[in-house]
Amino acid sequence: MANVKEFSVEEKLNGLVTLQKTESKLDELRILKGELPMEVADLEDEITGLTARQTRVEEEINGVTEFIQQRKDAIKESEGLIAKYEKQSENVKNNREFEAINKETEMQQLEIKLAEKHIKDATEEISEKAGTLEKAKKNIALKDGILSTKKSELDKIIAANEKEEKHYSKLASEAKEHVDPRLLASYEKIRKSYRNGLAVVPVERDACGGCFYYVPPQKQSEIKQHKKVIICENCGRILVDEELANNIEVK
Ligand SMILES: [Zn+2]
Repeated sequence: MANVKEFSVEEKLNGLVTLQKTESKLDELRILKGELPMEVADLEDEITGLTARQTRVEEEINGVTEFIQQRKDAIKESEGLIAKYEKQSENVKNNREFEAINKETEMQQLEIKLAEKHIKDATEEISEKAGTLEKAKKNIALKDGILSTKKSELDKIIAANEKEEKHYSKLASEAKEHVDPRLLASYEKIRKSYRNGLAVVPVERDACGGCFYYVPPQKQSEIKQHKKVIICENCGRILVDEELANNIEVK
């Protein structure tokens, strides 16, 4: 890397404290949003799933409706044939022909009965599916309602925070420029490993401000000298003296 700027330990510490304070502000803003971003994403996923299910049921209903129509057409065809046979039976020449026509007629009557049974079953199936569909639609409408409430809550918070977020994000990237990459990397690693996001803490009442582990006087005076970066031997957080921490204000 060309042009790496060398920082004194004091500059680095100041940069780290500024960065920590700025990012803590950003954390606060994030906490304000709470679970909302996750809840919104979950609801959106759920609605996508429900809508796909709804489409599937609609397609099934269309399929069954088509089947009913086919059976109705088949009935018409059979009725047409029966009418034809009736006419033919008026001109039969012998008993054998008469019986043959009778047999054909009976077969078509059976076909009609079977088709009617199919139509009845399919109609029941449709009403069952229609019930499922209605429930699905109601469920989607309900979730849509919840989603739009949560979304507008979130949008309000985002809008309210937007200015502050931008401001602190800018401050954070400026502060990062005053910390060398290696130290920045360990800062970020420590920060990620703690729920409260604190990687740089002051020594308060002889203890680490992060884990409250005792910091002996010898170590405290080393910390005050700003000659090297010192970490808490218990929690690994970067320790600074209270004075340095208090001198830096992030607004
Ligand atoms: Zn500690």
